[in-house]
Amino acid sequence: MDTHAFKRSLHHSERYNRRGFGRAEEVAESLEQAYQSGLIGTIRDNGYKLSHGRLSIRLAEAFGFCWGVERAVAMAYETRKHYPAERLWITNEIIHNPSVNHHLREMDVQFIPVEQGVKDFSGVTSGDVVILPAFGATVQEMQLLNERGCHIVDTTCPWVSKVWTTVEKHKKHTITSIIHGKVKHEETLATSSFAGTYLVVLDMEEAQIVADYIMDKGDRDAFMQRFSAACSPGFDPDRDLSRLGVANQTTMLKSETEEIGRLFERTMLSKYGPAELNDHFVAFNTICDATQERQDAMFSLVDEPLDLMVVIGGFNSSNTTHLQEIAVSRGIRSFHIDTPDRLDAQANAIEHKPLAAELRSETGFLPAGPVTVGITSGASTPDRAVEEVIEKLMVLSES
Ligand code: SF4
Repeated sequence: MDTHAFKRSLHHSERYNRRGFGRAEEVAESLEQAYQSGLIGTIRDNGYKLSHGRLSIRLAEAFGFCWGVERAVAMAYETRKHYPAERLWITNEIIHNPSVNHHLREMDVQFIPVEQGVKDFSGVTSGDVVILPAFGATVQEMQLLNERGCHIVDTTCPWVSKVWTTVEKHKKHTITSIIHGKVKHEETLATSSFAGTYLVVLDMEEAQIVADYIMDKGDRDAFMQRFSAACSPGFDPDRDLSRLGVANQTTMLKSETEEIGRLFERTMLSKYGPAELNDHFVAFNTICDATQERQDAMFSLVDEPLDLMVVIGGFNSSNTTHLQEIAVSRGIRSFHIDTPDRLDAQANAIEHKPLAAELRSETGFLPAGPVTVGITSGASTPDRAVEEVIEKLMVLSES
């Protein structure tokens, strides 16, 4: 399918909008009330530090809502204003944040139901308005909604669209896209729907397996068993790994994406030599600035002497999980929570999600005596949630 041509024709449709409705002022107050925080502004002005009795707070210098998320949420609010009576759907959580999605439900935005991992669009009819979230939607979903006569409000972040353009370029030049991402993540599903031949690798370990295969050090059956759910239909590792380009889910760990890019560049260099490298490997920078800034700020924060960290963001938020990984890799006692409600200030207890494990409850969360707490939040977390966590920490430190 010519996804590029489809997108072009969709962009010219009268039932498609990706620029908002010019109602920013009308929704500004609701957005401010729901998501912004005076306390966070004060802490920012104070060099990202706050002292409260025995408690010292250190905020990361970049955290929380990125502009792509702000834009998507504002567009969703504008959509409700613009279509006050129409049935409004969203193909997925607009972003991975429970409170934002809760607010949308309160505005009578319906989420497309999912049955056994498959989205059920049967309730969506002609004339309905359907919002595509910040991390996009698959080209098949866009086609279906377009054919059904829906109005499509596309909040896909331009950084994500840039990755789609990259994999479309790969496709045009019969290059296989190596996508660094989580195979079931909505953004990676969307990106792979725009790609031609592709293979998704989760991390360096999987990238190394692919690199070894290219250097004739792998077993075909074992390879296909590992990647059968992570590649394009009909993928043949003996045919499709000779010309590669790297793309990524925008919220992956930046350093890992770069490392994966370098690994494949080195591999193709060894296999084909410098004169032919450009025929076998291409790289475009598809790492989003906001993800990069938040990760860089986290690396600076964990260099400070911290007693513990609180990382706030949806449990299915990839960029938040990567922030938690950075804290854990430095041996810091770090707690990933999705909402302030996980913190019980009266009981000095916390319910949190350790990496790759189920939710866990812990008491004795804040130690006695002077304590320094580092705080950050993922790109889909409003400042209001961070404020509530800090307020609870202040109450806790007084007891
Ligand atoms: S994290 Fe980056 S790619 Fe994702 S919505 Fe924000 S700005 Fe866009």
